[in-house]
Amino acid sequence: MNTTAIYHRPESEFAYLYEKDKMHIRLRTARQDVRHVQLLCGDPYTLYKEAWYQQRIEMKKILSTDLHDYWQVSVGAEFRRLSYGFSIESYDGLHVFYGDHGVYPFEQQYLEMNNNYFRMPYFQEADRFKIPEWAKETVWYQIFPERFANGDPSNDPEGVLPWGLKNPDRQDFFGGDLQGVIDHLDYLVDLGINGIYFCPIFEAYSNHKYDTIDYLAIDPAFGDNDTFKRLVEECHKRGIKVMLDAVFNHMGDTSHQWLDVIKNGKDSPFADWFHINEFPVNYKEGENFEDAYDITYDVFAFTPHMPKLNTENPDVQDYLLKIARYWIEEFDIDAWRLDVANEVSHHFWKKFRQACDDAKDDFYILGEIWHSSQRWLQGDEFHAVMNYAFTDAIIEYFVKDEISMTKMVSELNNQLMLYREQTNQVQFNILDSHDTPRLLTLARGDKDLMRQVMAFTYLQQGVPCLYYGDEIGLTGDMDPDCRKCMIWEEEKQDRDLLHFTRSLISIRKDNQKVLSEGSLSWNWVSEEDGLIIFERELGAQRIIGIFNTGDDQITLSRPDSILMEQFVQLEDETMIIDNKGFAIVKVNNEESNEA
Ligand code: CA
Repeated sequence: MNTTAIYHRPESEFAYLYEKDKMHIRLRTARQDVRHVQLLCGDPYTLYKEAWYQQRIEMKKILSTDLHDYWQVSVGAEFRRLSYGFSIESYDGLHVFYGDHGVYPFEQQYLEMNNNYFRMPYFQEADRFKIPEWAKETVWYQIFPERFANGDPSNDPEGVLPWGLKNPDRQDFFGGDLQGVIDHLDYLVDLGINGIYFCPIFEAYSNHKYDTIDYLAIDPAFGDNDTFKRLVEECHKRGIKVMLDAVFNHMGDTSHQWLDVIKNGKDSPFADWFHINEFPVNYKEGENFEDAYDITYDVFAFTPHMPKLNTENPDVQDYLLKIARYWIEEFDIDAWRLDVANEVSHHFWKKFRQACDDAKDDFYILGEIWHSSQRWLQGDEFHAVMNYAFTDAIIEYFVKDEISMTKMVSELNNQLMLYREQTNQVQFNILDSHDTPRLLTLARGDKDLMRQVMAFTYLQQGVPCLYYGDEIGLTGDMDPDCRKCMIWEEEKQDRDLLHFTRSLISIRKDNQKVLSEGSLSWNWVSEEDGLIIFERELGAQRIIGIFNTGDDQITLSRPDSILMEQFVQLEDETMIIDNKGFAIVKVNNEESNEA
């Protein structure tokens, strides 16, 4: 037994309340090392009286990475507090007890030691990680407002270019606005999405608006506060949730606070609002507009136009929390997406979470974090992060051919094991965004591959987010190229791709519960022929995804109910799947039509 690989941590993603009366307990062991794991558990105060360590509850191996196996069990309603440890038996015949003080031989004397057990001291409902129910049921649509639709030429900024005239450069404006979104809400309803994530819409200098001037005003080129109020109302009427982008890490250098710092130096009342290393504030120009060096204050990346806010200053905290509440209370938004969330303190985000919870029930908070995010996802900061680490694994295998199929599966499983089950259900799965090349461009224009990747992703746990225009075949490389104007002339849209996307979203919504809460098992992962089959299961419901990522045709037995397919020929008894083909199969547990 490889005992060094055995790992558990109480009150973490390894031991947490899933529901009010249901606790999940996980254990990690070395891959293919352990054959049997059981949980010993009971009330901490009755160990001697009841000798509950003599009973054991089976744990199930749920997922594996290239290094580890993960085991899980649910324990529940009969407990309010819990002592627990693990019985672990390896393939090479060793049997150990693993508890709070490490690994012991599995012998009575060690099982009787009260302090050898891990603890869940009390089932604290207040501390449980809770998610808004609607967040599990949402298919998001991301809009970059300057480029979605121009619904009001009267607010166009100076020097506006004709819509779609050219591929965008960094400083271009095309006149997109909020009225344009209102005008096309029925298009979005028809597409099937039920949440819109807006890139920033507050007053700012740039076309991307990540350099906020005034957090309490809609950018005049996008409309005004009344336009936004109308937009939220029209969205809610159609069952669409609204998420705004909050840029609280930094401000724009044309904000009145920063201008005051430039003018008055350390005597400015806002001098402590930022991280200033030396007065007067200054920098030397770099080659690009957004780059500079010898900057005398902390900034976002190397951008002197985005001075970093000091979120430990109580005045800054009051200011930002007021903004957080303002858009919830006055405009009824449903969610905040937090830009550069990882560079702002946990201390501040806990206060932010509390302010949002106080302002509205079932509010959803999404952090922009590109790496492992356990610390932000304990239940008192965010509900989810932008799940780039998860979708990267999919793109690296399917599109870029940079990792093997087994490595992709390992990484997807690894990401799922970083977080609680309820967190995984609302993780924000994006294949592209305003910060990345578009999926179609990454796939070198191969729409068959794009459809395969989308289908694979929409069957995973977590909520999908569609970047505006992907559904009609919009292309684009790294930003600013991925921020092209939306195409509205139907003859220039890829209507087949639109129809496909609509069908996929509808499968996602029709099978929301099993795709959100269902267990995941990888039934077949074959590097040789490129066949990958996985299954999501919840009660009697099963959804099976079958993907041919290899070069040759693959013949399988014919399933009964195919919800969607690409490059599949059905014979009497068999199903032949071509290269880049896939089938989404729905099965009832009573039937035995295993693919
Ligand atoms: Ca306009």
